[in-house]
Order: sequence, then structure tokens, then C-alpha cells
Amino acid sequence: MSEAQIIDGKVYAEKLRAEVAAEVAELKVRHGLQPGLAVILVGEDPASQVYVRSKGEKSLEAGMHSVTHRLPADTPQDEVLALIQSLNADPAIHGVLLQLPLPKGLDEKPLLAAIDPDKDVDGLHVVNAGRLSQGLPALVPCTPMGCMILLRETVGDLAGKRAVVVGRSVLVGRPIAQLLLQADCTVTIAHSRTVDLPAVCREADILVAAVGRQRMIKADWIKPGAAVIDVGINRVPFDDPVKAAEGRTKLVGDVDYKAARQVAGWITPVPGGVGLMTVACLLQNTVTAAKRLNGLDG
Ligand code: NDP
Repeated sequence: MSEAQIIDGKVYAEKLRAEVAAEVAELKVRHGLQPGLAVILVGEDPASQVYVRSKGEKSLEAGMHSVTHRLPADTPQDEVLALIQSLNADPAIHGVLLQLPLPKGLDEKPLLAAIDPDKDVDGLHVVNAGRLSQGLPALVPCTPMGCMILLRETVGDLAGKRAVVVGRSVLVGRPIAQLLLQADCTVTIAHSRTVDLPAVCREADILVAAVGRQRMIKADWIKPGAAVIDVGINRVPFDDPVKAAEGRTKLVGDVDYKAARQVAGWITPVPGGVGLMTVACLLQNTVTAAKRLNGLDG
């Protein structure tokens, strides 16, 4: 059997960002509307700083209005809450994103709940989770949305496919399962208590791994020809002992990629797969929110 086709996240992310930029330009010309994104970063988590910088840069590149609020790690809960409320009320802002994780001492649940669901471009508000589960128009979490775009662009019609999602988090596993269901897949959600996970995975035409355990999904868990979407991001030492001794690390997914490529039909690499779609989908969500808030379909 031939090797799996690699799903290149860079290609599809660039395509989506170009589509978003074209839509932003059209909204400006036809409706005088410039979609606006506000990102709140509390503290100095290094990974979050990288993500937030990228969100700011990419939204500006797409022609959006973009603001980043950087707050010190010891900012009190009520100050973060007040900022969210002011952004909710700001007509120039259509998307409000609170970068997670928050520093110790801040309680994320009430802060996420305070974001106007119609500006909740991370799709984490319970109202959006509820809308999604009922098949209503919702703002959908960005990584799951990116997975669906990759599947549609490669596999095509998903109706009737057996899909297995490993992981049931609010951020990734559950919304992906909902989106696959909406696409008329027959969906199984697996998790840490699933019995005989390899056998469950082997049933999948579409296998989504969202666990956070390096290379857990083995090649012999994969049905030949399946589409494998690896959401996992795990930092591990280099295999090369010299680099490892220098303390250098690299990113790997939840799937044993090299071996899995020999079995799967399509596969996303890590890095270079799903992760690249997340920011592009955030931009898409901001445009969707701007349109809906202004009564322009979406
Ligand atoms: P969580 O830790 O919130 O959830 C992990 C899920 O995996 C849980 O549902 C857990 O089950 C399940 N799980 C854990 N161990 C096993 C096991 N041995 N067998 C089967 N299931 C297991 O993680 P997230 O959903 O937030 O993230 C998952 C991965 O995706 C991480 O690597 C994260 O870094 C990555 N990620 C990537 C993004 C991207 O942009 N590419 C964005 C967001 C996340 P249970 O519920 O039973 O505990």
C-alpha cells in the first residue's frame, strides 16, 4: 500500500487567510465594516505570548482592526472582568478572546462566561457549546473548525463515515465530535476509560486524536486508508542523543506519525498540520461575528 497523503496545514491555512482577507476588504467597501478582534493576555506565559503575537499579526495582515490587551499576572479578577465588559460594549470589537491558561489566582470560568456569546470567537461560552450541540449557528472553537476544513478539503463528503474522536475536552474533543455529527458521520467519542481503545480506533474511517500523549496512537490501531487528524501537541526531547543532551526539544503529535503514514490514507503532520489552522479559523470567526452582529447573514 502506498504512503498516506500528507495534509499540509500551511497550504489550507494560507488559503483560508486569503479568503478572510478578501471578505474583510469586501465588508469595508460594501458596508463600511471593519471586523475587530481584541485579545486579552494576562501574565507572561511564553507559549501564550507567541500565540497572542501571531493572532495580532495575522488579524492585521487580513485587514482587521486588532487590539491586544497585555495585563500583569497579578491583575485582580474584577479588573479582567471589567475589561471584558468594556470590550463587549465596544462597537469596533466583534471578537473577544481571553488567552488561556490564566495565571494562578484567576478563575477562568466566570471570565469566559462574561464574554458576549456573539463575540466569543474562541467558541468556549456555554451558549455557543449549546448552539453547536443543537445544530444552531454558533461560534465554533477554532481548532475543531480547522480539523473539519482539513477533512472537507481532503476527504470531501464525510456523510456516512465512521469517525472516532479520542479525547472529550470542551476545547477540542467534544466540539469536533459535534461537527462530525453535523457532517453526518457516525461518531464515537473515546477517552481515558474507553475499553480496548485500539479496536475502537480501528473502526474509524476518520480518526481524530486529541489526547496530549506523545505517539500514543499506533499504526496497527489505524484502519488502512483512514484519514488521521492529529491535534496533539507534545514537546519531547530530540531522538538524536547529542541534541537531547543539549536539552533541545521538538514537537510531536498523539499519533506515531512515521509508522501511521504507512497505513493511513491521509494524515496531518505535527507540526505543520492542524495547529496552523487555528489562527486562520479565529480570523474567520471574527468575520462571522462581525457580520452577524451587523445583521449581515454569516
Ligand atoms: P485535555 O487534557 O483537556 O483532554 C485530553 C483528553 O484525552 C481527555 O478527554 C482524556 O480523557 C483523554 N485521554 C487522556 N489519556 C488518554 C488515554 N490514555 N486514552 C484515551 N484517552 C485519553 O486536552 P485538550 O483536549 O485540551 O488537548 C488535547 C491535545 O491537543 C493536547 O496535546 C493539546 O496540546 C492539543 N491542542 C492542540 C491545539 C492546536 O491548535 N493544534 C489546540 C488545543 C489543544 P478523560 O476525559 O477521560 O480524562
